[in-house]
Amino acid sequence: PLITAMEVIDSQEVDYSEIGGLDQQIMEISESVELPITKPEVFERIGITPPKGVLLFGPPGTGKTLLAKAVAHRTNATFIRVVGSELVQKYIGDGAKLVRDIFEMARKKAPAIIFIDELDAIAATRLEDTNGADREVQRTLMQLLAEMDGFDNRGDVRIIAATNRADVLDPAIVRPGRLDRIIEIPLPDKDGRETIFRIHTERLNIGSDVDVKKLSDLTEGASGADIGAIVMEAGMLAVRNDSDHIGMSDLLDAVTKVMVPKANNVDHSE
Ligand code: ATP
Repeated sequence: PLITAMEVIDSQEVDYSEIGGLDQQIMEISESVELPITKPEVFERIGITPPKGVLLFGPPGTGKTLLAKAVAHRTNATFIRVVGSELVQKYIGDGAKLVRDIFEMARKKAPAIIFIDELDAIAATRLEDTNGADREVQRTLMQLLAEMDGFDNRGDVRIIAATNRADVLDPAIVRPGRLDRIIEIPLPDKDGRETIFRIHTERLNIGSDVDVKKLSDLTEGASGADIGAIVMEAGMLAVRNDSDHIGMSDLLDAVTKVMVPKANNVDHSE
């Protein structure tokens, strides 16, 4: 109960089929994280050591967590999720110890996947003079690097880290033998959005007038999380109207509701 910045989940229910528009990325992550756990002999035969860790980077809500969970599910690995910002906020003075505990637990519960979300909170380069809190973050990062260096690539502990801001990361973290595979998770394109709309409406009662192609046309710039929010909002509208299904008009209203505030937040400075 003390350690709430770390969440251990033994079996993940996410399947690759629930992730839309990321086929290439799914292939890459399955080769670099799943395969070394399920078929280590393939790497031995060829004589290469599998990557120790993978860095996923891209905008918020694009499926990075989903991907990590799906990999854990495929391998039946213990999934340990840590959030970078929580690690350093809640545990001032204790971040380094928590990092140590996390790796120890992973080794005990192997095969295990350590998922570090918001990696930038602990692994950003600091240019200015460091104050006390920054030094603590630095110590946490040092411990993380030491743990990564200290375990064997051929073992069955893998690291997946995620960030929205790969540009600010300390280069030390992406050195060979650490997070040595970098996979970009972009916003979905038109086809990707269509697939994600299909995935999110699959189990719902949807009217025959619903046109997912049109919805995908209307949602340029939307993330997978935005599409999830649109479908949820449309469902709420259907509930409010006491309808027995979600109609195209509910979805169109939901698109407006979710996309307009986003459009107003767009940074026009570029
Ligand atoms: P963050 O950077 O904010 O942590 P993330 O990239 O980890 O975001 P997820 O937590 O994986 O994003 O996505 C949030 C939710 O959005 C998912 O639970 C899912 O419902 C939906 N979603 C995001 N991306 C996709 C996708 N590619 N396919 C299907 N659903 C998606």
